[in-house]
Amino acid sequence: MPKILFAALPERWATYEPHLRQALADAGVTDADLVLAADPAEVDYIVYAPNSDVQDFTPYTRLKAVLNLWAGVEDVAPNTTLAVPLARMVDEGLTEGMVEWCVGHVLRHHLGMDAHIHGQDGVWRNGDVPPLARDRAVGILGLGALGQDVAKALAALRFDVGGWARSEKSIAGVRTFHGPDGLDKILSRSEILVLLLPDTPATRNVLNADRMARLPRGAVIINPGRGPLIDDEALIVALNSGQIAHATLDVFREEPLPETHPFWAHPGVTVTPHIASETRPDTASQVIAENIRRGEAGEPFLHLVDRTLGY
Ligand code: NAP
Repeated sequence: MPKILFAALPERWATYEPHLRQALADAGVTDADLVLAADPAEVDYIVYAPNSDVQDFTPYTRLKAVLNLWAGVEDVAPNTTLAVPLARMVDEGLTEGMVEWCVGHVLRHHLGMDAHIHGQDGVWRNGDVPPLARDRAVGILGLGALGQDVAKALAALRFDVGGWARSEKSIAGVRTFHGPDGLDKILSRSEILVLLLPDTPATRNVLNADRMARLPRGAVIINPGRGPLIDDEALIVALNSGQIAHATLDVFREEPLPETHPFWAHPGVTVTPHIASETRPDTASQVIAENIRRGEAGEPFLHLVDRTLGY
């Protein structure tokens, strides 16, 4: 009977418990003991949120895997007390939510919606007709579970989509780039740039002053990835100079974003409070249950984190 500890904020238990129980039953893990508290020495799996109380995994002596509820693992991957496989969340609900958020914010800037939303002043501004999507170059940094689906959705709308990852990719309708040379190439063509990279030692400050200068003048940055991907001070300078026309930011180095942070008041910044997409308990529970089924059957886990790379 595998003992499964739910280690997330306690208020999430009521939402997740019925979905996890159902998903475990559906996956055929009928003898699971799903609990909110347990003797660490008896726990087989931890369903984990990195903001839970569990930060030292040493007492979990018979642990088989940690199953992260979040896509981002930057707060748990470096944990040196963790000595078992770590799986991250790849959830179709989370992906769908991210596609909707990104497409919405890309369309906002592509269509120049703000000019009309804020311009209800009796002036008939019909001079600027937006180009077709096919004439708008959008770049996606990160072509993983989220970035690939965002790229495909934008390509389906006929945007001229480019995507960049660490390894080479082939995605229908998307110009793909990889490695350091590929980064320069995608930056130089992207009028709208979406960041869907993980926060790792290799991606921190990927968008620094030099890289922002490589974007076409007046480019828009959309960041639902992680705050540390962007050099905040360099972004403010680039916004003030007009090199960057607007930044829509969902994630920040410090969250909640402090009230005094210049992003709040800057006219070229839209702040959204880390709501681009959330793990959805119904679909995510199926992913967790499938991984527990695999663990019990001795099969390889899905969505394992490479802890040397940090994602
Ligand atoms: P993923 O499947 O792990 O994909 C990560 C992508 O980034 C991969 O394509 C990977 O390249 C690429 N990458 C990683 N390091 C790189 C490097 N050094 N150079 C170039 N490319 C690199 O992750 P995901 O599920 O798509 O999620 C991406 C991130 O979104 C998460 O880590 C999280 O921070 C963020 N997120 C935010 C929210 C929100 O609400 N704001 C919600 C969910 C997730 P390869 O394909 O070559 O490995």
